[in-house]
Amino acid sequence: MTERADRASAGASGDSTLDGLHVQTRAIRAGRDDNQNALAPILWATSTFTADTVSEAHDMAVNTHSSRFYTRYGNPTVKAFEDAMADLEGTESARAFASGMGALSAIVLGLCSSGDHIVAQRQLYAGTQLLLQTTCPRFGIDVTFVDGTEPGAFTEAVLPGRTVLVIAETPANPKLAVADLAEVGAIAGPMTVVDSTFATPLGQRPADYGVDLVVHSATKAIAGHNDATIGVVAGSEELLAWLWNYAVLHGAVASPFDALNALRGIRTLAVRLRQQTETAAALAEALEGHPMVESVHYPGLASHPQHELAARQMDLAGGLVTFDLADGYEAGRAFVEEVRVVRLATSLGGPESIVTHPASTTHVSLLPEELEAACIGRGTVRFSAGLEHTDDVVADVTGALDRVAGIVGGKRPSG
Ligand SMILES: *Cc1c(COP(=O)(O)O)cnc(C)c1O
Repeated sequence: MTERADRASAGASGDSTLDGLHVQTRAIRAGRDDNQNALAPILWATSTFTADTVSEAHDMAVNTHSSRFYTRYGNPTVKAFEDAMADLEGTESARAFASGMGALSAIVLGLCSSGDHIVAQRQLYAGTQLLLQTTCPRFGIDVTFVDGTEPGAFTEAVLPGRTVLVIAETPANPKLAVADLAEVGAIAGPMTVVDSTFATPLGQRPADYGVDLVVHSATKAIAGHNDATIGVVAGSEELLAWLWNYAVLHGAVASPFDALNALRGIRTLAVRLRQQTETAAALAEALEGHPMVESVHYPGLASHPQHELAARQMDLAGGLVTFDLADGYEAGRAFVEEVRVVRLATSLGGPESIVTHPASTTHVSLLPEELEAACIGRGTVRFSAGLEHTDDVVADVTGALDRVAGIVGGKRPSG
């Protein structure tokens, strides 16, 4: 990947001491303008705030940026996390939500009305896909799914005057397909949205390409320790005021404790992402040569179909690798039970390396043709690099694959 990760960033923080500093440096300080003299962020564990006068109470109640009225409206710890995210994404503002799905629901249901149209890519997080496929029809919102890797596909599916949102995810579930941020950002008319969870703000900055709203499940690499559930959307003040309304009325708001953990995560994100990328890249290379592996999907590999695009728009290829096992379902099941350092769990971006086998776990209820439509093979495994020593992780995964070859191979009819 390019060295743009070290670029000086023009973030949106009100803190002028951060002007012109690298994004890694900004991440250490961002969001703590209002920290009194505490060095570490303060946990504001309160549901409400007092006012001395009626006019002060009135101002607190009507100001969309009020973070000292009632915690469902805002909270200083949550605001500190939001300010840090706006700074790292280079946007005017950001809003935190109860989870990544809370953020995506707020975008879809807070910005669209009955009769509106959405263009979304087919390669999506399963929750986002279900939201678009099951919730949208109930509210009369039409969705057109396109191949997010096909040049021009998003633009061609836009219905002038009807399309309100264009939703991309890049890199995307499950096979780390990469969508072109410049193409999405250039679409005029509808609001453009990128789920940038896999990349993090240190991996790519969609707003630099003109994308209107950048979404993260901060539950993943941003909080980064598998101990917080929180989502965030970064964008303009104007759009975020709409989302704020939705969040306040629907209660999709972040808890101060999770915001504290997310803010803590931001301070170490740069070094964690670097380590996770190193492990993922080493594993992707090792897997490409392994006889049990049919195909490897990693944006940093030259064999990735959008490798050049990824190199252009991403600073780091990230910690996720998806691969397909040659012996399919049985091999996938056996593999996730054979790993020892790596754990079997659903999530990504934390300190523990994790594997999932969607066909036997998260997507077990899908018919074979539905699995295929979701780009998930019977032997597809998704790996998320943790912070263990790279060599231990690569040895664990390749060792497990060698043992699986014995198990699955042993069951094969001979001759
Ligand atoms: C996990 C995830 C989500 C949903 O986030 P939650 O915090 O679990 O609600 C959305 N998009 C992507 C890409 C994710 O990985």
